[in-house]
Amino acid sequence: YWLYGSLGPILLLHHDGHAPECVVFNAAEVPIEWEEHFVGDKVDPRTESFLTWESLESVRRNRVGLKGPMATPIGKGHRSLNLTLRKELGLFANVRPCYSLPGYKTRYDDVNLVTIRENTEGEYSGLEHQVVRGVVESLKVITRQASLRVAEYAFHYAKTNGRQKVSAIHKANIMRKTDGLFLKCCREVAEKHPEITYEEVIIDNCCMMLVKNPSVFDVLVMPNLYGDIISDLCAGLIGGLGLTPSCNIGEGGIALAEAVHGSAPDIAGKNLANPTALLLSSVMMLRHLNLTDKADRIHNAILNTIAEGKYRTGDLGGSASTRDFTKAVCDHL
Ligand code: ATP
Ligand code: MG
Repeated sequence: YWLYGSLGPILLLHHDGHAPECVVFNAAEVPIEWEEHFVGDKVDPRTESFLTWESLESVRRNRVGLKGPMATPIGKGHRSLNLTLRKELGLFANVRPCYSLPGYKTRYDDVNLVTIRENTEGEYSGLEHQVVRGVVESLKVITRQASLRVAEYAFHYAKTNGRQKVSAIHKANIMRKTDGLFLKCCREVAEKHPEITYEEVIIDNCCMMLVKNPSVFDVLVMPNLYGDIISDLCAGLIGGLGLTPSCNIGEGGIALAEAVHGSAPDIAGKNLANPTALLLSSVMMLRHLNLTDKADRIHNAILNTIAEGKYRTGDLGGSASTRDFTKAVCDHL
């Protein structure tokens, strides 16, 4: 379902009824009034998906939201929920910060990077078909418009967040036309921002470098599928998908925050999921709303709860439930 707030409604699509974000926002007295929207139980012909037209309209109108994980039911005659949202709302960039959490030890202590994923095209264009029996094709579409837009956002993000370097991640040596165009657009934008260092890194080499020494990277910008894969890799560097937030940026300043992870079907609904990823996403949303004090308070409470180590969910080696962890965050507030 979706929830809205008072500074202009806020939206949330959540997989079960417990919404830790709401519990924590109440404890922190965030001046937000939630309004909920549910994913429909039948296909809405106006969206060709289980998302209702009213839900899409309200995000367009209200411009900011928080979204829970959604898995698209298997079946014909409807579009993926996430793809519909991204396409219909023009959510062209997905910003995925990833940084080491103090007190939670992994192989790396100094991860601090941001993946910016092109969100509307590439391998996710939804254009797959069978040519003849035993032969299928999938079309990877790269456009100059979408590539320039995401590259511009990456440099804008670097500048406004005190970052020094943007790396364009690609496989243009093989995908000469598609990734070639993506790179060309990144290069054009880079020329307009000489104060930011720009480099190009081939995706396979990028994976090796990330695992060897993630601190060599700062902001990474890349086509859709690479962004999907690299951000899970990055999540692994700092402790897993239970920890990594994201925010989708759309046309006209729409911001829709969501966790990097999917619906975690193996643990969903069992009070086992780590709510950190979604809570940190809600912090990104608060920053977008300029509710900086509230964002800082909640952010610190989450980091302190993890650092303290008393309440950790299973993914971090602990035995706390989602609700135990959420309560501990509230106590830290
Ligand atoms: P989807 O197709 O919706 O992306 P998925 O099968 O890729 O689903 P993810 O949600 O991406 O599943 O999760 C991948 C793995 O990470 C699963 O083992 C899942 O349990 C774990 N995971 C994801 N989110 C969390 C979380 N919040 N807390 C703990 N573990 C998580
Ligand atoms: Mg997944």
